[in-house]
Amino acid sequence: MLLWLLGCAHAPETPVPTEPARPTARYTVTIFDNFGGAKVRVCLEGATVRELVPIGDNAGRELRGAWIDGDMLDTSRGRIRLRQPSRVSCVDYETRFSSPMFRASDSDAVVVTQAQWLWRPDPFPPDLDASIRFVIPAGGHASLPWPRSDGVYFPEQSAFFTSAFGVFGEFDRQAFSVAGAHVDITRLGPKPPDDDVRRWIGRAMQATASVGDRFPRDQVHFLIVPVRSQGRQVFFGMVRRGGGSSVLLVPSPDASVEQLEADWIAVHELSHLWLPPLRSKDRWLSEGIATYLQEVLRARCGLQSSERAWTRLEEGFARGRRSGGGRSLASESRNMNRTRAYHRVYWAGTAFALEVDVRLRKDSNGEMTLLRAISDAQPAWETEVRPVPASVVLRALQDASGAKFIEDLGEKYAKRSDFPDVAYVDSPEYREVRAQITSRADRACGISDESSR
Ligand SMILES: [Zn+2]
Repeated sequence: MLLWLLGCAHAPETPVPTEPARPTARYTVTIFDNFGGAKVRVCLEGATVRELVPIGDNAGRELRGAWIDGDMLDTSRGRIRLRQPSRVSCVDYETRFSSPMFRASDSDAVVVTQAQWLWRPDPFPPDLDASIRFVIPAGGHASLPWPRSDGVYFPEQSAFFTSAFGVFGEFDRQAFSVAGAHVDITRLGPKPPDDDVRRWIGRAMQATASVGDRFPRDQVHFLIVPVRSQGRQVFFGMVRRGGGSSVLLVPSPDASVEQLEADWIAVHELSHLWLPPLRSKDRWLSEGIATYLQEVLRARCGLQSSERAWTRLEEGFARGRRSGGGRSLASESRNMNRTRAYHRVYWAGTAFALEVDVRLRKDSNGEMTLLRAISDAQPAWETEVRPVPASVVLRALQDASGAKFIEDLGEKYAKRSDFPDVAYVDSPEYREVRAQITSRADRACGISDESSR
């Protein structure tokens, strides 16, 4: 007691200097109306904010209204305008999930992107300390690719600018580490069972990591949404990067684990994580490399035979030749979602990846490969979550490989309106290089005697 009094008596008169407070945004998101929308309260402190704005141009359509203390705010064009620039206030707003990505019929859950409920302060304080707490109807939870502690999410800046997948409702969750990365899997519905999901995703992660000596991300969030579809084992996949890597996969609930493993979609989506997102006219490059890797990595890691990989590449090139409307590859890429010339864009890009890989291997007697160049170049774009130009990737690949031809070759591919020559896929001259490309690499794929199936 005496010591305490003495300590108190000798306390300095001036207050201890404290860190300057960071601006904060505390969100409370209540999912309501049978997972049909969100009521959001955001309390802002320490930054001057004029508006709250949505991610992307279309998201504003989901906004139903916004209020401060019950007084309605101007929400034209999907932006919430504060009456006067404010440093401290709580704003309420409400959104509807008018087009959820998925709504599970046999479980109470909805898959939406945060663009459908997260409005960010504008101007955006770069050092914003943001937290999000969810209130979900009874028995439900949230699953998002963001850091979380005690049920509160702490999204980093990119979560406010780039979309990611999230689930609200009832679902199963599993987590494990593979290829040096932490995997967090959310699955809607009971199938495929946990063990099958773990083996399917684990081997796809290891195959993808075999491009280098590591997986390109520390954490990956998976959303598995089983949907019955005719004849396809995995119906659909997509990757998003807002605030963390998130991969949506839509398998058939009836697929066996062998069928899931043999499918290309998981390896394709994960391969995208070696690259940055690219601008729409440059998507031939990211889709081409991911498509090339999906075939080559599965052969290297024993998920398909080498013969099947080369047959699939040949068939893909044939489909690519038949697709497209005589535009340059850059223009086909930009217009792909409208013209649906996907085969042209994906497979012309794959032809580029094959040509680069073959030439790198030939010129270096097998020392340099496209895989190694990607792995070595990846730190140059690792932190990019918003689309970059192809030149960033081409230059980094060129620098990493020491080859002089990659940038020029990329520009040539982007300009050409006919399908590229694909002699590399079947000419006898390249037989040996082809065998190298798809030769088994069990150790790189994390397959040892103990762990093999
Ligand atoms: Zn893709």
